[in-house]
Amino acid sequence: MKLLENKIALITGASRGIGRGIALEFAKQGASVAFTYNSSTEAANALEKELSSHGIKAKGYQSNAAIFDAAQSLVDEVIKEFGKIDILINNAGITKDNLLMRISEEDFDKVIEINLKSVFNLTKAVIRPMMKQRSGSIINMSSVVGVKGNAGQTNYAASKAGILGFTKSVALELGSRNIRCNAIAPGFIETEMTDKLDEKTVQEWRNAIPLKRGGKPEDVANACVFLASDMSSYITGQTMHVDGGMLT
Ligand code: NAP
Repeated sequence: MKLLENKIALITGASRGIGRGIALEFAKQGASVAFTYNSSTEAANALEKELSSHGIKAKGYQSNAAIFDAAQSLVDEVIKEFGKIDILINNAGITKDNLLMRISEEDFDKVIEINLKSVFNLTKAVIRPMMKQRSGSIINMSSVVGVKGNAGQTNYAASKAGILGFTKSVALELGSRNIRCNAIAPGFIETEMTDKLDEKTVQEWRNAIPLKRGGKPEDVANACVFLASDMSSYITGQTMHVDGGMLT
């Protein structure tokens, strides 16, 4: 049985990494997928083809999640093309790490805009149609760093902790309309981004994780399938930790 049959999902930042993993898993589970990216047009075109090969409808949109008006027009376009949006995954995110002593105002603002304001922009744009259809599942990508903090990541930690407060508030506001909102807090997920790191450091990170490995995009994608599907229809306002036991 496919868990997301007849569902339409909008996923931000799916040209690579975790977002791409979510898009592929959703297509396998029968969902049609609209996804966004910032600048990786070639990767987005390739993903669109790969998703379509699963027999579902798929389309990539170049859209900056940090811009309020862009989110509104994106949602209008997706609804015109796909008919509705059942699932929103706010996944787009960046890092601009530095110690607080050295961090610039610009790098603080940029991370907050792309990681946190984007969640407001997209969520605000989808809730009206979701309220009309009296259903919806919104999943926000936080991080272990948003729960625990991390030296050298004040901007990123603030954005990811902000997502947790936003998620719980949306769950409280929109529960009566059957709109659910949950967050995922991934730990160390091995993507192209982490491939660039020194192997010795990465091995030390793996050793410190109770399950003794970094996570894969599929690990996060599987949690998203559960939270997007009707299997989780009584779950809202929660943070699901996908971190191999890192915070235990
Ligand atoms: P990634 O490989 O760097 O991919 C980021 C994605 O977001 C790309 O598709 C990128 O598009 C897109 N993006 C960046 N800025 C955007 C913008 N302004 N508007 C729209 N899309 C934008 O990152 P990742 O590792 O997969 O992480 C995905 C999410 O999980 C992020 O929110 C991250 O904070 C979170 N997370 C990651 C980890 C980890 O260990 N990897 C752990 C915890 C949480 P382009 O390709 O066009 O640039």
